[in-house]
Amino acid sequence: MFLSLLQEHLGIPIPEVEPIYSAGTPQSRDATLSMTERDQPTAWIDTYFPVLNTPLDRRLEILDEEGRVVWKADLEEYSDESDPDAHRHARSVPAFHGLSRDGDVKGEIVYANYGRPEDFQSLLEDGITLNGKIALVRSGGLFRGLKIMAAQNFGISGVLIYTDPENDGAATIENGYTPYPHGPARNPTSLERGSVQFISMYPGDPTTPGYPSYENSTRCEATSIPAIPSLPISWSNAEVLLREIAKGKNSTIHLVNHVKNGVIPIWNTIGVIPGHIKDEVVVLGSHRDAWASAGDPSSGTASLHEIIRGFGALLKRGWKPIRTIVIASWDAEEFGLIGSTEWGEDFADWIDKYVVAYSNLDASVYGSQYRIHASPSLSHLVRETALRIPHPTDPSRTLWDARMDLGALEPHFPPGQNNSFLQPQRDETDSLGVVPLGSGSDFTVFLQRIGASIMPFRRPIYPDESKSTQVASSNEDFITGPNDPVYHYHSIFDSQRWQEVYGDPGFHRHVAVARHLGIQVLSIANAVILPFNTTYYSLELERHLARVEEIASCSSVAVDLTDLKTAITKLQLASQRLDEQKYGVCEAYHRLSSGYSTWPWNFYPTQRKSQDMIHRRVKSINNRLARFERGFIHKDGLPDRKWYRHLGVAPGKWLGYGATTFPALTESLTLYSDPKMAQYEAERLRVLIDNLAEKLNSENI
Ligand code: GLU
Ligand code: CA
Ligand code: ZN
Ligand code: ZN
Repeated sequence: MFLSLLQEHLGIPIPEVEPIYSAGTPQSRDATLSMTERDQPTAWIDTYFPVLNTPLDRRLEILDEEGRVVWKADLEEYSDESDPDAHRHARSVPAFHGLSRDGDVKGEIVYANYGRPEDFQSLLEDGITLNGKIALVRSGGLFRGLKIMAAQNFGISGVLIYTDPENDGAATIENGYTPYPHGPARNPTSLERGSVQFISMYPGDPTTPGYPSYENSTRCEATSIPAIPSLPISWSNAEVLLREIAKGKNSTIHLVNHVKNGVIPIWNTIGVIPGHIKDEVVVLGSHRDAWASAGDPSSGTASLHEIIRGFGALLKRGWKPIRTIVIASWDAEEFGLIGSTEWGEDFADWIDKYVVAYSNLDASVYGSQYRIHASPSLSHLVRETALRIPHPTDPSRTLWDARMDLGALEPHFPPGQNNSFLQPQRDETDSLGVVPLGSGSDFTVFLQRIGASIMPFRRPIYPDESKSTQVASSNEDFITGPNDPVYHYHSIFDSQRWQEVYGDPGFHRHVAVARHLGIQVLSIANAVILPFNTTYYSLELERHLARVEEIASCSSVAVDLTDLKTAITKLQLASQRLDEQKYGVCEAYHRLSSGYSTWPWNFYPTQRKSQDMIHRRVKSINNRLARFERGFIHKDGLPDRKWYRHLGVAPGKWLGYGATTFPALTESLTLYSDPKMAQYEAERLRVLIDNLAEKLNSENI
């Protein structure tokens, strides 16, 4: 389906046999590696072979002292015919955790808030034993898999994760709203499926960290998945357990999660629009697999379709981008970013050599509040583009203004009550208002392992994340504002009807996202000098450092950051020199072309020498701009999670989605309180930033 869409819009002749290649075969390698030599648009499917799990039997029961079942959870969501898709999915999409551990455990129940390490720690400090117990935790605060990682570290034998309506903003039953499908509040039976992979350890196929999953790949023991079973449960089921806990009963819980593990083929679909410059590539990707799906990810896929249609219309008019554009539809994102990660691991050298930027879509719309994540070098571009696009529902404002939107339920919200809900969600952002990138979507391998600059991506948000002490990257484009109808994340209620009635009536936000991302990709693909702002990036590093200084001053760990500071200043100066070179080459070009503005430049033969000189200078500047983000990659990676190699930003070890800037250095203070380690990490970063400055200064790389 996606392949034929690409073929149709990119004008690719439909071959008799669909081009589907097994990863690792000569055909698959040839399709990707020869991208930089092609002249005609092409599209194909790459097949990888990760280990995934499928649900078999799941049970959740309360047992009495004799071990008899006194209550049995239904573990199901219920819709009626008023939402036919949800009704159908209720019977066909089982509720379970992707990559969860098979198991059958019994234990006393214990409530552990968000399931953060500090939540378990405080229970221990209150004298509560955790060993062998079953933890009931709520969604939010940190990626769900990390709740299981924390729980097993504390000796817990099974975990139940529920969605708490307390985190639903204004649209609650208590505030007088009716649950979906008959109103905007949470349906009490809704539950959140999702992967429980330990995302901050490594993403992708758990059995092939750092290398691709071919059919015959050697597999290692997975260390990124839980050792204990877990289940997602609804608020209506959780309420029963919470009542037991409130009664002070030490009820015994029986948790069964039978799953079947096996190698299951997955398909990434790739399309290529060759540019004039074939060895500089912009990649645009979005996942296609889903738990349910109108928001996550079909809203993103719909926006991606529109972008492809737009590119198709341009191609028909004879357009050819300056740089090559690659469009990817990833599979198995929901199990742990698997399609994108395996492809990234497979073609890491190729990406390193050719990709100038990766742009990610995921769920593009499930609310009214606009949020943007990006690498700091692209913050200006994403902001300026958003300022050029009209607000989707209020033409007097811009898309950038939609960041302050509160949601449609505002007028009905009982006045004076719970005013905090009337504020937009606040994130830790960079100085321009752009949020740093952690993980949780398919950009991860590109940024965190290979160091490609990244543009916006989307993923769901829970309110508590932004309260984290580390830099939280919490939300993205068109996420639920505080007064929006509830988005039923990873639930059957994430349906077409929900999107039409509540999420994005008229689909104006879907269009705005397509415009925003499409223009950004075109801006990068068509610019003569790449629109990357390394000076802003190096100024942001100063803010990262200030944050480390603040953390260090509050801790007992002494670390000398003087050399690191000097290195950052050097980098700022080097970047300013590069900016001057940018202006210089633009001026030279304009003098020479006196009016020619289209690529490829065709000057008079007498001007050839100057033209070659300008080309060489442009190439050298673009090389340095495109490789800037790569400069943060360190081959040794982060101390206890070597897959992650970016020393500038990483998913926080106990955040997952959220970002921690200067992760190795920061976590040496926050997690390890180790002065030797902190000094070592400050020095590692100093060397890296010195090298970055040197690379910016060198004309010929
Ligand atoms: N985006 C998906 C989620 O939030 C997958 C993330 C992951 O497992 O890495 O569940
Ligand atoms: Ca792998
Ligand atoms: Zn998604
Ligand atoms: Zn998802």
